[in-house]
Amino acid sequence: MTIETTFQRRSLPLEYPFTISRGTTTETEVVTVRVEDGEGNVGIGAAGPSSHYGETAATVEAVMPDLLAVVEDVGDPHQLARIERRLRETVERNPAARTAVSIALHDLVAKRLEVPLYRYWGLDPAETTETSYTIGLDETAVMREKTETALERGYGTLKVKLGTGRDVEIVETIRSVAPDVRLFVDANEAWTPREAVSKIERLAEYDLAFVEQPVPADDPDGLRFVYERSPLPIAADESCITLADVPRIADRCDIANIKLMKCGGLREAVRMIHAARAHGLEVMCGCMNESNASIAAACHLAPLLDYADLDGSLLLADDPYDGVPMPDGRIALAALERPGTGATLK
Ligand SMILES: [Mg+2]
Repeated sequence: MTIETTFQRRSLPLEYPFTISRGTTTETEVVTVRVEDGEGNVGIGAAGPSSHYGETAATVEAVMPDLLAVVEDVGDPHQLARIERRLRETVERNPAARTAVSIALHDLVAKRLEVPLYRYWGLDPAETTETSYTIGLDETAVMREKTETALERGYGTLKVKLGTGRDVEIVETIRSVAPDVRLFVDANEAWTPREAVSKIERLAEYDLAFVEQPVPADDPDGLRFVYERSPLPIAADESCITLADVPRIADRCDIANIKLMKCGGLREAVRMIHAARAHGLEVMCGCMNESNASIAAACHLAPLLDYADLDGSLLLADDPYDGVPMPDGRIALAALERPGTGATLK
C-alpha cells in the first residue's frame, strides 16, 4: 500500500470574539492533514494548536513533514499503536501536531473497515452525552444575551468562563435567564486558592455541576487546598495534560478534563480515560478552538465520558467541515451515516 499525505494551514474566524481569563481570540488557526491509501480512502484530521501549551500553526507546520514521513515509512495505517509511539519519539513536545496525524489515520482505518469510529472502538452510540456550549467572558449584559441566544439554539448545557472581579454577578445573571440548564464554570487558573474557596462557596447557590481549573496548574498544593474545601466538584484541565498527570491530580480533583490537543493522540486519550477511572475520577473531554476536522474524532469517545465540552465547531463563524451531528448539543453518534470520524468538507 502506498500512503500519500498532505497538510494545509488555514485560519477560521470565530462567531464571537472568545475571551477567557488569559485573553481574547477572534480566529483560530488550524492545520488539516489528509492521508490517502491509494484505494480511494481519505483520512482527515486536524491540529488546533494552543499557544498556552507552546504550539502554534507555525510549529505544527514545522514538524508535520517529519511526522508524515513516519506514516509513509510504516506504510500500514492499521499499525496505529506503533505509529503513535513513533510519532511521540519523533516530536514529543508537539501534541496537537501528533493528534492531527492520529485523527487522520483513525479516520482512514475506520473508512477502510467501513465502520464509524465509535464502532471501531467497540462503543455503543446510544451511550452518548451532550456537549456544553461555552459562553466566553464579556460585559455581563453581553454574556446574558449570548446565553439567551444559546437557549434559542436549544443547548441544554452551558459552560461559563469566569476569572473576573464579577464572577458571582455573572453566574447569578446567567442563572436568572437560564434556570434549568446544566451549568459548568471554568476559571482557567485565575483564582488564588483562598479566593477560589470563598468564590465557590458563593457560587454553590447556583446549582453548578462543577468548577473547572480554579487555580494555576503550577500550584498543585493550591488545587488540593481548594478540592478539600470546595462544596462543588472540581475539574482539572490545565493541570491534566498527559497520561502521567492523571495519578498526580487524582487526590486533587473530582474530574479529569482530557483534550486530544494536549495529550497527542486518540489512543493516548483513551489510555487517560481508563487511567482516570482507575483513580476514581470522573472524565470529561474538552477541546480547543477547532473545526470538525478534529472535533468529530473526539465525539466518538462520548460513550466513555461523564461530561463533554466539544463545542469547538459550534463556536466557529462557519466551519468548513461537517462532523458528528449535534442537534441541541446532543452528540448524536447513532445519526452519523458515514464511516470514519464523519469529518467531511461541506
Ligand atoms: Mg478549561
